[in-house]
Amino acid sequence: MDALARAEALTDYAAGTAGCVRCPLSETRNLVVFGSGDPDADLMLVGEAPGFQEDQGGPAFAGQAGGLLERLLADIGLAPDDVYLANVLKCRPPQNRDPLESEIASCEPHLFRQVELVRPRVVATLGNFATKLLSGRPYGITRVHGQEHEVTLGGTRVVLFPLYHPAAALYTPSMLQALEGDFSRLPALLGRESPAPNPPSVVTDEEASPSVDEHAVGAVATQLGLF
Ligand code: URA
Repeated sequence: MDALARAEALTDYAAGTAGCVRCPLSETRNLVVFGSGDPDADLMLVGEAPGFQEDQGGPAFAGQAGGLLERLLADIGLAPDDVYLANVLKCRPPQNRDPLESEIASCEPHLFRQVELVRPRVVATLGNFATKLLSGRPYGITRVHGQEHEVTLGGTRVVLFPLYHPAAALYTPSMLQALEGDFSRLPALLGRESPAPNPPSVVTDEEASPSVDEHAVGAVATQLGLF
């Protein structure tokens, strides 16, 4: 199947899942959040499940974790539209609780079909649920993040690259640092050159003596886990 046919098949498949009733989450969700981005992407990122914001109107990773993901992608020269974003579950679990085994089992055919149709070269799993499901191994993300290995998913040979979940990294600076380090290896795994680092900016006199209290800004940012 060529890329156009695969893209059309993905659109049809998404339309077919919009009314999915494979598990009881269909009774509490507002919306099936199927996935979004380039249907022919080399890089697919797989998160856990839609949250409140995604359930209200999609797309996947519309919330704060998605903001961090967008920044991490920009750092390696990519935009969300250059990749394909999906989740293990397509429907929000009530109160954002962890996915149940039964829900994952019901939903996994959707994810495998997405991999089969997008045919990414690299699948980056975000957090424990995506990593355990797609690696088929019981190891947690703390142990395996940043350790790529080849697997066959949906009939496609891909490089699986486990990463910390950006929602966790938002509040844990050491995880954010590890996530940034792992992310910086993605261009090489995709067979691309790393983008040149941003040139150092020229500091003007005005910028050199800012009127805002930098310590206060730093304290708030640290509380939010952004640095
Ligand atoms: N939003 C998503 O779409 N997936 C997650 O895993 C977290 C937030």
